[in-house]
Amino acid sequence: MTNDKEPLFDSKDELGGEFSREWKAISLSGPWDEVLGWSLDELLQTPFYKIIHPDDLRAAIDGSIDHHEKSHFKSVENRIRCKNGSYKNIWWHFYIDVDSKRIFVTAQDITNLKLEKFLAQRSQQVAHIGSWFLNYSDLQIYWTAETYELFGVHPNNFTPNIENVFSFYNPEDTEFLKEHYSALAKDGQNVDRDVKIRKPNGESVLLRLTVRVLRDNGKVAGLYGTVQDISVEKEINRRLVQAKEEAELATRIKSDFLANISHEIRTPMNSIIGMAELLGETSLDEEQRQYSDVLSRASGNLLRILNDVLDLAKLEANQLKFENIAFNIHEIIHGCAELVKHQLEEKNLELEIAIAASAPAIMYGDPSRIQQVLNNLLANAIKFTDQGKIVIRAFKSDQPRLITFEVIDSGIGIPAASLPHLFRRFYQVDSSTSRKYTGTGLGLSICKELIEKMGGQIEVKSTEGQGSTFRFTLPMSAR
Ligand code: ADP
Repeated sequence: MTNDKEPLFDSKDELGGEFSREWKAISLSGPWDEVLGWSLDELLQTPFYKIIHPDDLRAAIDGSIDHHEKSHFKSVENRIRCKNGSYKNIWWHFYIDVDSKRIFVTAQDITNLKLEKFLAQRSQQVAHIGSWFLNYSDLQIYWTAETYELFGVHPNNFTPNIENVFSFYNPEDTEFLKEHYSALAKDGQNVDRDVKIRKPNGESVLLRLTVRVLRDNGKVAGLYGTVQDISVEKEINRRLVQAKEEAELATRIKSDFLANISHEIRTPMNSIIGMAELLGETSLDEEQRQYSDVLSRASGNLLRILNDVLDLAKLEANQLKFENIAFNIHEIIHGCAELVKHQLEEKNLELEIAIAASAPAIMYGDPSRIQQVLNNLLANAIKFTDQGKIVIRAFKSDQPRLITFEVIDSGIGIPAASLPHLFRRFYQVDSSTSRKYTGTGLGLSICKELIEKMGGQIEVKSTEGQGSTFRFTLPMSAR
């Protein structure tokens, strides 16, 4: 029936013998001692009925009693006690010879076979997987117990055949399966399909149906496969998708809110900064000037944080738009330097700008976003450096049509263990509340996202105590 060539029994394991009608062995052949643990002598001296399982004894004796006039064959299965007390399932075939009043026996140890059957049945029950076989030569269909269970029918009142098996499926699946079946001889394909069936009690179940084609010498010999109840799995998946969609919606609402509120705060914030600046231009005494300076600095810092939060929200909501215009690299870099002139002076740090001749003077892209990244890196470089110098470099990359920018400092550096996390949102090397340096941990993650959205990449190299190099690469022309 199948083309599986592995034999169920090895002929060398075949047990044989000659018995009296009282189940006493007269001669034995084959590895009885290996199977049962008793020596051949012990087995020849002990009548077998003493080691047959008590529950099987009746059937064994009935089986060997000759009710017929003529010699004939008989088969019986029973459990035989081994020397160690365990039982083996033995399948006996007798030839009862009326003339000699002897029983000629061949037997097989089917213990493992029974165990395999038991395990296959239980595994199918546990996993809710049934299997089936269709013999192509006689169109007989075999279902395992779990297949009957899944289709909601009982073997006593339902016999699957090539017509009635289709009645469980919905019209679309029925059509598909019938087509597959009729194309079988020509080009029988394997099938993996989720189908909906209706049990006789009206209940609908989702099954994953697999169909495999069994061939013998190239010809279709049968079909076999499995049916698996996937209703629970589908329901879990549906809930996961729903939960994911709800979470995404919640994040979008949160990002939109963040974007709106940051925008709303920015307008009054700009007024405060403007007013503080105007106030600084009026005639103030020493104490008043100190107050107005604090006001200017604090409101400037607040605006920077606000801008970061706004960018973050826009990045999350995918709302950030990028320009693609021509601009001059020298202007951008010198513009950044101009912005930090006072901070450099305050910390007594030198700034070196090195734009290589290989770098194009004009490139295409979003100058304000590139400037934002450079400002951020430069601000960090100044913040984390107490002495030495800061260098901004720009040069043509090794790879074609890419330009590289570097911001190098001689500051505190970054511990090797922190480097892999540096571009993560909110990450700070020192995040304790008592830390020396202020900040939100947003700057670098925003830089990374902006650069990647502009088609580039950013990386960092650093040695603790010696300084850091932030390097990013961008296409010279965005499109
Ligand atoms: P923050 O607002 O905390 O500066 P960033 O995202 O810009 O946030 O930086 C994250 C962390 O990376 C900083 O808190 C700091 O620990 C480290 N870092 C960034 N730039 C430098 C630098 N140039 N030198 C040393 N550490 C740095």
